[in-house]
Amino acid sequence: MLRTHKLGEADRIITLLTRQHGRVRAVARGVRRTTSRWGSRLEPFTHVDLQLAEGRSLDTITQAETLTPFAGGIGGDYDRYTAGTVMLETAERLATEEKEPATQQFLLLVGGLRAMCAGQIGTGPVLDSYLLRSLAVAGWAPSFDGCAHCGLEGPHRWFNVSMGGALCTTCRLPGSASPGEGTLPHLGALLAGDWPAVAEADARTRREASGLVSAYLAWHLERGLRSMAYVER
Ligand SMILES: [Zn+2]
Repeated sequence: MLRTHKLGEADRIITLLTRQHGRVRAVARGVRRTTSRWGSRLEPFTHVDLQLAEGRSLDTITQAETLTPFAGGIGGDYDRYTAGTVMLETAERLATEEKEPATQQFLLLVGGLRAMCAGQIGTGPVLDSYLLRSLAVAGWAPSFDGCAHCGLEGPHRWFNVSMGGALCTTCRLPGSASPGEGTLPHLGALLAGDWPAVAEADARTRREASGLVSAYLAWHLERGLRSMAYVER
């Protein structure tokens, strides 16, 4: 479940990311009644097994069974909640076409929410890793080692979001960032999901990396994410 909207007096339109059919919008009848048979199964963050009846404009949810109630592990913690909300919003924006299969995006989102609930990796690194990987799946894989313009092997000193990553001294554009020594390797480890390497980064490196991830995401999404404003960086 990504998002819900009120519809009429008792219903909601639910936006879902599905394993096989990408992003889908469907109506949940009666979900806002206090006696609703749906309980919390159709809330954001919940991973459910659904049955839909095809409708003329919107499908209707006929059955829902909870697979993983991520809301329980996320809703009670402010940092997780804000980071998780950014993940849902990103998934919705990157699965651009309704009913266009987006299996990798689906698996990344479920994996990211699971890692966040497990709590072994910090919320910040889980979010940054998820954002980099979902952008890569969408076709915008950043380069954190080789020069994003000429391909010259790194490490390089410069980084530019509009060019897609690291830049060598020759290709560097005015206005490129010059991150600290460990930041680009840290971003590479986040993209690769190399958690032992991620854990070695100090607070300053993490903060700088998070700033670059946010800038990279904002560059590729037409409008920025509303939910990003609430994440402490
Ligand atoms: Zn270059």
